[in-house]
Amino acid sequence: MTAPQPRPGILDIKPYVPGSSSAPGASRIFKLSSNESALGASPKAISAYNEAASDLFSYPDGGSAALRDKIAEVYGLDASRIVCGAGSDEILQLLTKAYVGEGDNIIQSEHGFLVYALAAKSCGAEPRFAKETNLTSNIDAMLALVDDRTRMMFVANPNNPTGSYIPEIELLRLRQGLRDDILLVVDAAYAEFMEQPDYNGGERLVDQFDNVVMTRTFSKIYGLAALRLGWGYCPSAVADVLNRIRGPFNVTLPAQAAGLAALDDQDFVERNRAFNREQRSWMAERLSAMGLEHVPGFGNFILIKFPDARGLNADDIQSYLGSEGVIVREMGAYKLGEYLRVSIGEKEGNQKFIELLSQKFPSD
Ligand SMILES: *Cc1c(COP(=O)(O)O)cnc(C)c1O
Repeated sequence: MTAPQPRPGILDIKPYVPGSSSAPGASRIFKLSSNESALGASPKAISAYNEAASDLFSYPDGGSAALRDKIAEVYGLDASRIVCGAGSDEILQLLTKAYVGEGDNIIQSEHGFLVYALAAKSCGAEPRFAKETNLTSNIDAMLALVDDRTRMMFVANPNNPTGSYIPEIELLRLRQGLRDDILLVVDAAYAEFMEQPDYNGGERLVDQFDNVVMTRTFSKIYGLAALRLGWGYCPSAVADVLNRIRGPFNVTLPAQAAGLAALDDQDFVERNRAFNREQRSWMAERLSAMGLEHVPGFGNFILIKFPDARGLNADDIQSYLGSEGVIVREMGAYKLGEYLRVSIGEKEGNQKFIELLSQKFPSD
């Protein structure tokens, strides 16, 4: 072997496959495959981004200080323990790189977000998948997988792609069942869509314990996925670790500027939340009327079951929708091959999706 070889395990990684965005042949495309913001981005964020164009020659503030202060103000947090990243993805990757090594393992739920397993494998660690109950994280099953090589546990809450969530009291129980040296990462990418009183994104646990981190993103309700902007809220020792290993300028200047303006436009966030609530319940109702089983999800997407028994399986439906310009997400990689995930999009796309489905599944 003369060519350079990566560390063991790297070549076993199947790269993350993002939601597709093309549908050859269709005249108009509705991309309902990546849980992007239905209402786009706040006009204020777009203006701030455009204004940043005149500063493209200069390095950004390496510590994202103004942005962290604004996040702290909006969410009631301690700015010194916020670390910003190029998407929450970067924070998840950095955490794994810092805390997991060769021969270690991480624990996540069976149908949990796949980025955690990929990050673990890239560090030579084994991802362990805990059985779920009703497509919801099962705390006891997760805790049962812990052994002396477990370094991290990841929970997406609410989870993508299932849309289910666990209440704060269950998160607390999870933390209390964990050894102090295991880092619990609560990925709250969809927190802003949540309106359930028993829910908390995880910040209260972070403030209370030294081994809990919460990650958040500007990619979903804020509609800034293209800019790659996210953050983690950490115990101070973990924030210190992230600040040592992150790139010195990991968040771009336009992303910081747009993020700041987006945070200042909470009216937009409220509009997006209300729109999502209303469209999601309309779509869920229509799916029920067609007899299609779906998970009562809490994010900006719905997971729908298409069993073979109906004569049209998930693959058939995905191709059919795609040929008509509606792109949805296949779920094979999540061991949910009978399902498709559809994002709540703009009204026209949602209507087209429902209309197309009702041609195959007439309501009784
Ligand atoms: C979309 C999503 C993210 C956000 O990733 P970014 O890198 O911030 O765009 C994180 N976690 C989950 C579960 C998601 O669905």
